[in-house]
Amino acid sequence: MNANDDAKVRQILRRSHELDYGHFAIGIEIQPYKLVAVLSEIDGRVVARSRRDLTDMDPDEVVKHAAELAAQVASARLGCGFPRSRLCLGVQVGGPVDPDTGMVLHLLNAPDDRGKDRPPPYEWVDFPLGPELAAAFGCKTVVENDAHAFAAYEQRLGVGADCATFAVILIRDGVGAGVVVRRERLAVPLEFGHYRVWPRGRACDCGMRGCIESQLGNRAIPAVVKERTGRELDGLEAAIALADGGTAQASEATAAFRKAGVSLARGIATLLTTFGPSQIVIYAAEDLITGGPGRRAANAFLRALRNFPDHTFQISRNCHVVTKPLDVVRGAQGAALIALENCLGIQLQPR
Ligand SMILES: [Zn+2]
Repeated sequence: MNANDDAKVRQILRRSHELDYGHFAIGIEIQPYKLVAVLSEIDGRVVARSRRDLTDMDPDEVVKHAAELAAQVASARLGCGFPRSRLCLGVQVGGPVDPDTGMVLHLLNAPDDRGKDRPPPYEWVDFPLGPELAAAFGCKTVVENDAHAFAAYEQRLGVGADCATFAVILIRDGVGAGVVVRRERLAVPLEFGHYRVWPRGRACDCGMRGCIESQLGNRAIPAVVKERTGRELDGLEAAIALADGGTAQASEATAAFRKAGVSLARGIATLLTTFGPSQIVIYAAEDLITGGPGRRAANAFLRALRNFPDHTFQISRNCHVVTKPLDVVRGAQGAALIALENCLGIQLQPR
């Protein structure tokens, strides 16, 4: 038997062992009108993935599609008869949840999202996503907030390898954060996006004024740029293009990105004085965090946020901030890692 045959045999044996005895976690990320799913082995490796666009964000419809997608991603790798008892499911959403009950407390797509071609807004209040999905798919299911899922990814497969206390900030439509303190991921709501950083600031979707999320996020930034310039803008990319372009409104648009950066810097200051992280990982749209010549929006945002020590108590300033572009599966992978922990008791050691 040559080396090639040897490798093939090992692969077949491994496959047969995994079908007979293996446990797997499915991670699902629920985004506006989109689901992303991964199948993860117990070492956190993603072995299958899938996604599905949705036309309806009614929670019962989302449960139906999420259960179908979970079945699809599992059967692609494991066959459709794979026992549900050896699967677990982690699902994450961009809003506050109660992980103990699997309840989504609040999830919405706010009015600012509605450009002319945008799908309709939706709002979930106290929806029992975990129990509903567990009943529809038939395996143990956990629900988490999206920033906590990204924090789980960093804890198990990212900066957790060299850093015991760190924070992860997630900038999408809104802004969230998760914190790991002395290798322990804090199961606290945090609500970072609603830290109040401007005493008489702009109105936030939450009803308060001056929250981080009133200035930062894929929803707030275009809204602020529109207020400053009077230009109708369809989303973050259009706001960035206006700031980077050569029109008379470019500097007003750039100022909005600067203020978004200051808002984040002030929020980081509060994280530093509260938890003392030695690293902060910021996940955001690639165009928002890629500076360089002519990239005025990103440059203004990054420069302002990197000035976070100016807003911080002096002994808390020693923190390394890194930015990472959002990728397709990381959130779903984080949700799968949380399912491994909570349903199977598997806590991966950072490598
Ligand atoms: Zn708010």
